[in-house]
Amino acid sequence: MDSRAIAELVLQLGRMASAEAHGEGLTPVQWAGLRYFGRANRFSRTPSAFAAFHGTTRGTASQTIKNLEARGYLARMRSESDRRSVHLVLTEKAKAILENDLFETLVRAVDTLPLGGRSQFANALQRVLGQVALERGIPTFGNCASCTHLEGDDCSRERQQSYACGFSSEPLLLEELDGICINFVQGKPLPERGSLIGTAPQ
Ligand code: SF4
Repeated sequence: MDSRAIAELVLQLGRMASAEAHGEGLTPVQWAGLRYFGRANRFSRTPSAFAAFHGTTRGTASQTIKNLEARGYLARMRSESDRRSVHLVLTEKAKAILENDLFETLVRAVDTLPLGGRSQFANALQRVLGQVALERGIPTFGNCASCTHLEGDDCSRERQQSYACGFSSEPLLLEELDGICINFVQGKPLPERGSLIGTAPQ
């Protein structure tokens, strides 16, 4: 299969996923905002990070966020580590509608792929994403599992692996490693899902 045909398939998937997103009276960009704030880690729940992720201006991102706040889907919270910064979080109302998000059809389709090939597929997509972002001068998002800034050691008590972010110099909880991050830098291939738990990062 040639490169153009693969690129067109990726584009078609993206179009299908966003064109369907009109339920609950929300626009595709508002749905994108809800999905983003549902997946972003605590370093990335800001209007500017959402603007970078969605490839839009800060003004457009702020407008989307204001609208979602006004409709009760997003709320502002002070950061525990830095009381001056404010993070956006999903409300219970937002979590409830995300359970019926049509994007889940895409997730279910990915679920049908053979387990053994998923890492390879994810790594190929991540690599393409990184190349496009580099050419266009925009940040790539990813999670801790394949980030160059992830640090870990085997020295914690009760044989629990401990992790830290080398970029922010902050410890990371195991459940935080899955969140998407604006500070991500691709450093290693994506491991099979769940393989970080109880194993040392490479
Ligand atoms: S390790 Fe990487 S992806 Fe994880 S929080 Fe740090 S910069 Fe973000």
